[in-house]
Formats: sequence, structure tokens, C-alpha cells
Amino acid sequence: MPGTNLSRAEAQERAALIDVVSYDVDLDLTAGSETFGTRTTVVFTAAEVGTATFIDLIADSISSIDLNGTALDPATAYRDSRIEMSDLQAENTLTIDAVGNYMNTGEGLHRFVDPADGEVYLYTQFEVPDSRRMFAVFEQPDLKATFTFHVTAPAHWQVISNEPTPEAIAAPNAANADGIEVARWEFPATPRISSYITALIAGPYDVVRDEVTSTAGTVPLGVFCRKSLRPHLDPENIMNITKAGFAFFEAEFAHAYPFTKYDQIFTPEYNMGAMENAGAVTIVEDYVFRSKVTDAIVERRALTILHELAHMWFGDLVTMKWWDDLWLNESFAEWASTTAQAEATEWEQAWTTFATSEKAWAYRQDQLSSTHPVAADMVDLAAVEVNFDGITYAKGPLS
Ligand SMILES: [Zn+2]
Repeated sequence: MPGTNLSRAEAQERAALIDVVSYDVDLDLTAGSETFGTRTTVVFTAAEVGTATFIDLIADSISSIDLNGTALDPATAYRDSRIEMSDLQAENTLTIDAVGNYMNTGEGLHRFVDPADGEVYLYTQFEVPDSRRMFAVFEQPDLKATFTFHVTAPAHWQVISNEPTPEAIAAPNAANADGIEVARWEFPATPRISSYITALIAGPYDVVRDEVTSTAGTVPLGVFCRKSLRPHLDPENIMNITKAGFAFFEAEFAHAYPFTKYDQIFTPEYNMGAMENAGAVTIVEDYVFRSKVTDAIVERRALTILHELAHMWFGDLVTMKWWDDLWLNESFAEWASTTAQAEATEWEQAWTTFATSEKAWAYRQDQLSSTHPVAADMVDLAAVEVNFDGITYAKGPLS
């Protein structure tokens, strides 16, 4: 019984059998405070006709499954967070209509109500295996595909994803049950990326916009936070670090920024420091400073900004096949961001800070019974979840 787990062996077997062409994901965020509508159409190929595989989904309920024009019964096809499919064709089209659950744990599509003004803020956190909480997906990093998102949401919201936000259009039913005006956003397709770096952020976020000149042209920049936090946001510092990082990484990596825009969104009730969603980085809201902080905290935020930006090239453009190489993803981002901070910002002593904080974190972690080799043996998703630690992040850059 896999429950919500997925083993490396299963992932390897699935990647040997199928290639994913595209996902088309239609989300209805106007269905109330507990659930949302999610309809996924996946086009994928199979190396062998007549074989079987499965797709991942953690849903409240599934109303229909259609594989190549044949209806599958959710009651029998859906169990243990998987939808089983057999009799695959060379090219397959799978459509799944489901109801998803908003989360309050920071996994999947998180929903937060601002106590200051009662506004609703949504954001996603998908690493490691939680995009399946928002849409049906082959949830493993090596099965890259294009993703096209369609979103129906309250008209006054900002809706942010990996691609630039399109002009909102009037939704077919212009008002939902609560009488709130709703609109529809039809995003362009992403480049081929892993599902864990796709993202959706939606709500009446406030935004500061700017742009940076990349070697491939102008890249729009956005910094977002809750409306009630806007008086505390210091966007100039964040934009300046971001621009310094763009120039440094493009020169050092000899490769233009690989996505079309770069948004950074400060999100509430966030479990981690930040997440490198392609072109739509989420950052813990503690980094919007509500009172005067020490320079060490500002330095730490700058490192986080550069860490996520480094991931656009290393992690997002170039991605590990499986989570065994998580250490390389994270340690390289730590090394690249600390180097950028030392050489392209005012914090020239960044490696000294690394030695006293990150290196100490690695030493401390190494003394525990939970220590592990830098390159860990990630046999399944459960093993990955416990390895976001001082070894994976901070010991690797020392190697
Ligand atoms: Zn990272």
C-alpha cells in the first residue's frame, strides 16, 4: 500500500515507459473556502502500446476520468493517491475532473485569511510531491512537460504563475454565489519544466514592479506582499539585490535568464525560507520587516534572494533526475548565492558569514544520529522529506 509514497524504483520504471508532452490545468477558485475545482488534461506518450501506468492525485473527490475517449470509474481506478491506467496507446490524452482541498499546512494550494482585513490569500508550495494536491500529475522531477494554467478567481485578485499574468477576461458566469465579480486568466504555456517548480499565487496582493536588462532582453520584475503588509515592504533593497544577481549569474553561467519574468512573492504561514518556482519565487513573510532589524538579517534575506535566483539556472533549467541529487541542487545554490553575495553586493564578507552560520549548521547536523552522506540514498519520497537539512544545504558547498 503506497499511501502517498512513491519509490525511486517506481519513478524510474514510469520514466522508462512514458514521456509527458503537456498539461492543461483549469482551476476554479470561486467554489468556497474549503475546496476548488480542478480539471487536468495530460498528453503523454508510451514506449509500449498496451502497457499500464499511474498518475498521481490527492483530491477531495473525482467526478470523471477519461483516457483516450474511454471513461474510467473513479471508484475502482483511484486509490492510494494514484489513478491506475491500462491499455496505453502510443499517444494518450487523459482528462480528469476533480475537486481539490485547500490546505492550511503549507503543502499544495495553501489558503490564508488575513486577520487584518479578512482578505483571502492563496499560494502553492509543491516541493517535493505536492503539485498532485492541485492537479493530476506524474509527480517526479524527470518527467518535464509544458504547463498551461487557466484560472477563474475573484476579479480584484492578482493571479501569478510561472508565465506572465495575462489580461483578465470576463468569466462565463460573471458572479459567483457570494455575488463577487469573477474573472478568468488564460496563461501561456510554460517551457518544459518539472511539476515541483510550477506555481500559482492568487489574492489581492499588493505589487511593486520594475525591470532588469538581461542578456536576452528586458525581464519584468515584481515584488508582492499582502496589502496589510505593504507599508513595511522595502522593495528598493530587494530589487537591487535581484538586479545584481541577474548580472552576476548571467555572466558567470554564460547563459541568459531562462524564463520570461521574475516575480518574488512574500507569503503568509510559510514553512520554509523560500521556494524557487520558475519565475514565481515565494519567500517567507518574516522577510518583510515590521520593525528595525539587524544588518545580519538583511544580509540573510539577500542570500535567500540570490539562492532562489541561482536555482533558475541550476535546479529549474537543469534539474536532477531524482531526489538523490537534491544535495547538488541545494549545495550548488548555496555556493553560487554566497559567491554572488561576496562579489556582487555590499556583503563582501559573505563567506565569513557562511563559515560561522552555514558551516556550523553542517557540523551540528553531522553530530546527530540522523546524519547521512552528502549524496543521500533517496529510495522514496519519505526519505527525501527528512533530508532538507544542514548536510544537504551546508555541507555540500564545503566539499
Ligand atoms: Zn534551494
